[in-house]
Amino acid sequence: MPHVSQRLANVCESQTVALNSLMAKMRREGKDVVALGAGEPDFDTPDFIKEEAIAAIRQGFTKYTPADGILELREAVCNWLKEEYGADYQANEVIITNGAKHAVYEGILAVVDPGEEVLLPAPYWVSYPEQIKMAGGVEKILDTKKEDGYKITPQQLEKAITKKTRLLILNSPSNPSGAVYSEEELAGLVAVIKKTGIYVLSDEIYDTIIYDGKKYTSMIKFKEIRDQLLLVNGVSKSFAMTGWRIGYLAAHKDIVNAVKRYQGHSTSNPTSVSQKAALAGLLGKKDFLAVMNKAFTERRNYVHQRLTAIPGVTCMLPQGAFYAFPDFSFYYGKKGIKGSNDLCSYLLEQFNVALVPGMAFGMENNTRLSFATSMQALVKALDRIENGLKSLL
Ligand code: PMP
Ligand code: GLU
Repeated sequence: MPHVSQRLANVCESQTVALNSLMAKMRREGKDVVALGAGEPDFDTPDFIKEEAIAAIRQGFTKYTPADGILELREAVCNWLKEEYGADYQANEVIITNGAKHAVYEGILAVVDPGEEVLLPAPYWVSYPEQIKMAGGVEKILDTKKEDGYKITPQQLEKAITKKTRLLILNSPSNPSGAVYSEEELAGLVAVIKKTGIYVLSDEIYDTIIYDGKKYTSMIKFKEIRDQLLLVNGVSKSFAMTGWRIGYLAAHKDIVNAVKRYQGHSTSNPTSVSQKAALAGLLGKKDFLAVMNKAFTERRNYVHQRLTAIPGVTCMLPQGAFYAFPDFSFYYGKKGIKGSNDLCSYLLEQFNVALVPGMAFGMENNTRLSFATSMQALVKALDRIENGLKSLL
């Protein structure tokens, strides 16, 4: 048996990524499977972005760039943060990363020492616990309830903080629940963060995907915790650019510098061509965002209405992102279904519909569905889910 380091031997596979590969395999085998698994917009990257990338290739922009990304892109991020949220950031307080996923990991690495605690509200995105582990941190889960909109409270946060706590990871809009913290709710958390001196990594990758005409509040708005904030975002979701792998981290320049040193030894610059494409997205017109959000709103409403019409199923109406997180636990214990893993296997194997078990997000009673797919696929998927669940009765 080859030797695998303890560090990696203990890391679980990403269930969302694994499901994506499984779907591709099933489709190659000719199976008519509807995939509501991995969350990525079904929209194509807009043409105005692709054109810039093609031009960059033609112009020979195919060499190394600075490890922290090209200056124009870091400046465009600063302008975006200024325009959207009124935040004042300089280019040396921003680093371009290989997707938002890597920005989260690098952010954790930059501030958490081995053995220190990282507070993680559940349900959480699949990669956070593994990234904390890889960085040598210790995850401390903060459970939330559907009745509280799957959100933590300032009291809960304060109670969980110990001498060992270094970081809180917050993700609003949330993957998987679709919860969005209001300005008032964030202000409550900010007061505790300020008072206790912990860091907060705010993963805002879904910030432009917000429903019901609400205005999104970014953590960057709270200037009193500027030095404690690590803001993560990127172009994957907003601009339908998941495969281009461009994200960013904005933080105090010392933290950004530490990440820059790490990036300089580990990945070097994110792909040069992708940086030009991301630049086009950030500088381009924002009407694309509204078109996507309109489609997501219709799908969200449809999915929510279909799910809550199934006997025994409850589901919070998502306020942002493109996931629904229904509670299917009414069906556990029926016909040998033990929990969320069993239920998802049953629906995939017998009804050809792929969902992600709540277990992957630290919430066993629930199951995640991505509605970033066509209405036609959603109709088919919901018919199959409904049939599958009703067959258990
Ligand atoms: N954070 C959350 C909450 C996500 O859902 C995703 C999507 N995979 C990411 C970060 C990573 O985004 P990217 O594809 O830019 O790495
Ligand atoms: N963010 C998506 C998801 O949660 C993409 C897959 C991944 O990178 O984990 O499904």
